[in-house]
Amino acid sequence: MTDRVGLVFVISGPSGSGKGTVVDILREIYDEIGVSVSATSRSPRPGEADGVNYYYKTREEFESLIKNGEVLEYTQYNSNYYGTLKSEADKITASGKDLILEIEIDGGGQVKRLLGDKCINIMLIAPDAAELERRLRDRGTETEEAILGRLARAKEEIKEGIKMDYLVVNETGKSRECAEKLLTIIKAEHMRAHRAENYLKKNFPEN
Ligand code: 5GP
Repeated sequence: MTDRVGLVFVISGPSGSGKGTVVDILREIYDEIGVSVSATSRSPRPGEADGVNYYYKTREEFESLIKNGEVLEYTQYNSNYYGTLKSEADKITASGKDLILEIEIDGGGQVKRLLGDKCINIMLIAPDAAELERRLRDRGTETEEAILGRLARAKEEIKEGIKMDYLVVNETGKSRECAEKLLTIIKAEHMRAHRAENYLKKNFPEN
């Protein structure tokens, strides 16, 4: 057991905002972080592996997980389910590590409602709309229909950005700087005075 209170940092942002790369770098520069593997009903893309990128479930399996309360948050996107398994979240915060969730903005809202100020919502965005579209098209793994679906969704999400706790621009070619911005947020959140209650009781007891 540990005294450290694990926090949940929700990193949202449209596909193409570069979340995956930035969070990978964040893990390299800060080891108090556990990244939870989500469950999805979509099929694996080439190069993806079960238990690494996602836990791949059938729709029926996913629906029974929801029904049994085993999913902390979930969303439907391009006709597939995506969600965070409660077991993954518990495993990480119980070890005193912070949890990083790379999820859709509505999923972030669900976690915030559940965890209150233990949940910090951060939105990562590309510098501008043209760069976002370029990043999506460069990936080259999807149909035009899927790309257009992602772009439409992105526009909706960006409108919600103003409601987040933090908004972080991921400048092209500057993933490391972006990860460092996230680390600054994480460190500052741990120093918020109201989280120090136990520390103060322990180290400055009243006589
Ligand atoms: P992709 O198909 O590109 O892997 O993911 C599509 C979208 O689903 C991404 O924007 C990603 O952030 C979101 N997503 C992945 N895992 C989860 C999850 O566990 N919960 C929620 N709400 N969204 C997720």
